[in-house]
Amino acid sequence: MPEGYDALVVGGGIAGMEASLTLGDAGFDVLLVEKEPSIGGHMIQLSKVFPTTDCAGCITTPKMAATGKHPKIKLLTYSEVEGIEKTGKKFRVRILKKPRYVDENACIGCGRCEQACPVLIPKEWEYGLIGRKAAYIPFEMATPKKALIDLDNCIMCGRCERACPKEAINFLQEPEEIEVEVKAVIIATGYNLFSPEKKKEYGYTGNLTVIHTSANPNIIHGMQMERLLAPSRPYHALVRPGDGKVPERVAWVLCTGSRDKSVGNPLCSRVCCMYSIKQALLYSSAVPFGEAAIYYMDIRAFGKGFEEFYNMVRELGVEFIKGKVAKIESRNGNPVIIAENTETGEIMEEEYDMVVLAIGLLSNPEAVKALGVELDQYGFVAQPQENSNPAVTDKEGIFVAGTATCPKDIPDTVAEASAAAAQCIAYLEEVGS
Ligand SMILES: Cc1cc2nc3c(=O)[nH]c(=O)nc-3n(C[C@H](O)[C@H](O)[C@H](O)COP(=O)(O)OP(=O)(O)OC[C@H]3O[C@@H](n4cnc5c(N)ncnc54)[C@H](O)[C@@H]3O)c2cc1C
Repeated sequence: MPEGYDALVVGGGIAGMEASLTLGDAGFDVLLVEKEPSIGGHMIQLSKVFPTTDCAGCITTPKMAATGKHPKIKLLTYSEVEGIEKTGKKFRVRILKKPRYVDENACIGCGRCEQACPVLIPKEWEYGLIGRKAAYIPFEMATPKKALIDLDNCIMCGRCERACPKEAINFLQEPEEIEVEVKAVIIATGYNLFSPEKKKEYGYTGNLTVIHTSANPNIIHGMQMERLLAPSRPYHALVRPGDGKVPERVAWVLCTGSRDKSVGNPLCSRVCCMYSIKQALLYSSAVPFGEAAIYYMDIRAFGKGFEEFYNMVRELGVEFIKGKVAKIESRNGNPVIIAENTETGEIMEEEYDMVVLAIGLLSNPEAVKALGVELDQYGFVAQPQENSNPAVTDKEGIFVAGTATCPKDIPDTVAEASAAAAQCIAYLEEVGS
């Protein structure tokens, strides 16, 4: 008989954690399945949040800890839903748990395997800004804080095995097939980032995770800038990746991969204007003598306190240039922006120390394939009753929250997650046991 839960939550970003905690606090048994080795999603990677400039990690880490130790929430990380079938009132769900090659129960997260490992490859979690080992803990605040071994890059030297004080390394671990029964499902699989190399004329040709193959490593993207500005940042000071120099002139290029049919995404990503304004403010505090410029088509400051935040940053001296960037070239390692200032008609050529491409949020259709719900034309989960029951999908008993339905900011994501949990609770009470 498969294990039974009231609800399955798929995805452990801020939406999935919030929905799980709401359900768990209301006394329902929750299984939270996360494909990465840790929960936290994109929010745990952010520096601060607009418009309050609260520290993102200080909000996310307690949520991660509360989710990880909640008596009503079972966490299944490094796992993905493979199939789902409705039988009567319940869903039978097949889940694949990938091998960590580390016994999760034995591992104490001491990091000795990581210290002993001689392999160094780009760290995905830091978007390639620094390296990681083949035996590694995904990041400092990871939940669960357990190591894993990346077998594709492991050289089988056995040093991690010898260093582990708990004999937790197990190269013989196999993928595990798990079957469970649940009464309801909440999809919280979030978004994918636009790959800036698709915008060839902007000169970011590197793989998202390997900045050093970039044509110019001083052309970075918005998430890399979040990491450079975060309290848990990969370098001790705000320096540019190309040569470790403090960038004295930085420009942001808005709408990189958003509102752009040439790269197949006509949608506005809703957060890039505000996250760029926030980054320019944080940059100005970190480098007080620095110059910040934002190239924009128009500023979408639609939320509570956003317009005031925008005006405040403008008044502080960040330059706003209304113009579409045509091209970014390189001169002596410095990015050079070529743009038309649409207010003056002038063709501009400006050299900077670093350029940040404000990449947008795309759908994550692969994540929901196994769940069989209807998608909209852009690959986001469709909301057939968007105005009256936004958390409802086309499948009875399957709900959705957060950026799985469209790009949005954290406050809207959290509000939706609570709403999805409330609708899920009403459904669970209706179907009974
Ligand atoms: C550069 C940048 C800066 C930003 N700054 C701000 C800001 O300052 N303020 C603000 O309000 N918003 C900001 N945002 C937006 C913010 O990141 C999102 O609103 C928020 O993270 C959405 O949370 P989510 O849970 O919906 O999605 P995600 O954070 O994407 O979480 C989804 C989770 O689901 C997991 N998952 C995916 N597929 C599967 C699967 N198949 N099975 C299981 N799990 C899966 C993922 O691994 C992830 O953990 C920013 C965005 C960017 C790109």
